[in-house]
Amino acid sequence: MQPPESPRELAPGGAGSAELRYRLLVEQIPAITYIADFKGDRPFLYVSPQAEDLLGYPASEWVEDPMLWERILHPDDRERVLSEEQRTLAAEEEFESEYRLVSREGRVLWFWERDMIVRDDYGTPVCTQGVLVDVTDVKRAQAQIRDERDRAQRYLDIAATMIVVIAADGRVSLVNRRACEVLGYSEEELLGQDWFELVVPDADRESTRSVFKRLTAADGDRSEEFEHRVVSKTGDERLIAWRNKALRDERDRVTGILSSGEDITERRKAQERVAYLAYHDQLTALPNRAMLQDNLTVAVARASRSGMAVGLLCLDLDDFKLVNDSLGHAVGDELLLAVAKRLDSSKRHGDVLARAGGDEFFVLLPDLPEEGEGPALAAAQRVVAAFQDPFEVAGTELHVSTSVGVSLFPRDAGDADELLRHADAAMYQAKRNARAGFAVYSQEADDPFERLSLTSRLRRSLKQGELVLHYQPIFSLPDRTPVALEALIRWDDPDRGLLLPEAFIPAAEHSGLIEPIGEWVLNEVCAQAARWATLGLRPRLSVNASPRELRRPEYSDTLAAALRRHGIEPSQLVVEVTESAAMEEASAARRLLGRLDTLGVGLAIDDFGEGFSSLSRLRELPVDQLKIDRSFMRDVPGSEGASAVITAIIRLAEALGRTVVAEGVETEEQHRFLVEQGCPLAQGFHLCRPLPADDVTALLLRN
Ligand code: C2E
Ligand code: CA
Ligand code: CA
Repeated sequence: MQPPESPRELAPGGAGSAELRYRLLVEQIPAITYIADFKGDRPFLYVSPQAEDLLGYPASEWVEDPMLWERILHPDDRERVLSEEQRTLAAEEEFESEYRLVSREGRVLWFWERDMIVRDDYGTPVCTQGVLVDVTDVKRAQAQIRDERDRAQRYLDIAATMIVVIAADGRVSLVNRRACEVLGYSEEELLGQDWFELVVPDADRESTRSVFKRLTAADGDRSEEFEHRVVSKTGDERLIAWRNKALRDERDRVTGILSSGEDITERRKAQERVAYLAYHDQLTALPNRAMLQDNLTVAVARASRSGMAVGLLCLDLDDFKLVNDSLGHAVGDELLLAVAKRLDSSKRHGDVLARAGGDEFFVLLPDLPEEGEGPALAAAQRVVAAFQDPFEVAGTELHVSTSVGVSLFPRDAGDADELLRHADAAMYQAKRNARAGFAVYSQEADDPFERLSLTSRLRRSLKQGELVLHYQPIFSLPDRTPVALEALIRWDDPDRGLLLPEAFIPAAEHSGLIEPIGEWVLNEVCAQAARWATLGLRPRLSVNASPRELRRPEYSDTLAAALRRHGIEPSQLVVEVTESAAMEEASAARRLLGRLDTLGVGLAIDDFGEGFSSLSRLRELPVDQLKIDRSFMRDVPGSEGASAVITAIIRLAEALGRTVVAEGVETEEQHRFLVEQGCPLAQGFHLCRPLPADDVTALLLRN
């Protein structure tokens, strides 16, 4: 074997040392290097010894047998490689190729070959110098990766779920066939595209991006399930349930998100349909009994937290069976539809109208203030009024009436179920004595053995002497001596303890019990005045009269009788009436005020400033006192508005020659403010709380 002579590049410092260096260099590297003559069929001039190591043919054989290389070329590669070689040779170009050679023992090895043409000073090719690198391992590894990738893609493609990999920059880096099908794009159209821009609809884009951000954040969640819609190439919108998982590299950096998605569009539609059917009445599309029960449970839970009330109206058409029997079911249905429509427009925002089946409807009234009776009765009246005009059905006019039962949580029922049952029971009570068209649930009428209703307990309390009066002193300012007392009623209920008026006065007003209660108050106040008189105490005494009492002409007679019975001067008594009651236009209340004035008792307007008093009318009224509503006091001295109102009322009273009492004085600051404003009288917890008569006696004796 001849060492290379010709390539000058390899022998800059003399032939001997150049050869040595060349050998040292090429014979170390794990590849076959060679030099071949450029002429003829390119016999090898030199082949490095690795040729023998790798292929089993010693270098001498390569040099001596010009056909060796061609012979050991793998048959599958031979044609391709030879033609490539021919072409590059003719064009005097470098040759580069990958092919297989078969070793002497029959092993197949992959080589990567590349050569370089060496030219003489005239540019004529002299020889080629090349290298064959054994890339068998690389090839095998590549093939393995390719196989794995193919296999993975095959798995992905037969998967029934959509699979998408979104790179950290939001671009699609992998999709499977199912994803392409659902989205209507080809794989090529999706790869490299911004996922959010291409397929996520505007409405879902922000939320989807934020899930993506959470997952790709350095310390983000590792996986998250999430639903969002996609828009296909054809504009079709689908709802997809995605399971997203962050893909992380070995250094735990997020490289993208693997999402597998299931098209749940149809399933969701079906679910919604089922849910709708389960919760709605087919005929009227109103909520049905099941939905009513759900809403009722929620409303009751909320009311027990907030201290508000829930009302439930149950209504049932009168003689609906007659309509059905005589005019047919189609007409019956038409009537029910018309009724539903009219009830729906009569109800107020937030109320829930439901059809519980047949001709039975419910109206749920959530979040009612206090016991809720006032608004519930108003709602019942609206329902009854909605039936006043006839219904146009099947070309004729039908007059239909309804019976409404009213029940209230927590007053009449302890939970949602009981509320439903009691509204139903009240409806039957209404049917039995159909005078007003509606009835409020009453336990006695429903079940005489059940716990007594509030009204009946209140009635009993009167007989059994459970009502008591407490007295709150009214002080003169600025010296702060008690000069008068306001009588405030309490109910010492053996079951529930001492109840404040707000817990029972509204019910008393509604049931009419306020009349005997008011009578009791007047007598008790006069009796107490007489007891104090024996001790030489004669404070002015205020009693409260509710609007309903004022509408009774007998009120003044009752009062006069009480005064007479206990020998009390009328001028020692003040009757407090609320602003709105006193201002009622042309009412019996106005006439009564005149009578009380004639009788000689004092009159006070309670909660003044709250209503809308006209000043001219105020001047006409025979009142002595204005009691400033304590809601104004609450904001003093913080609110300039409230302070200004109080000051204005004080000035107004001075101008009209009336006395002012400021109510609700709870702090020393408020007290000082009133003194500064020249307010003559005040009452409030800061000065003294309402007290039992005996405690007041001690206080009065001390002053
Ligand atoms: P009202 O006539 O405005 O009575 C004053 C109420 O304010 C009383 O509540 C009293 O306890 C309360 N009060 C007094 N000072 C303060 C204070 O500094 N801060 C606060 N937050 N409240 C204060 P009460 O006794 O609960 O009476 C409530 C209402 O019930 C009375 O309001 C009155 O309208 C009515 N009422 C009381 N007794 C009778 C009665 O015998 N017959 C009638 N028809 N109604 C009555
Ligand atoms: Ca009062
Ligand atoms: Ca008041």
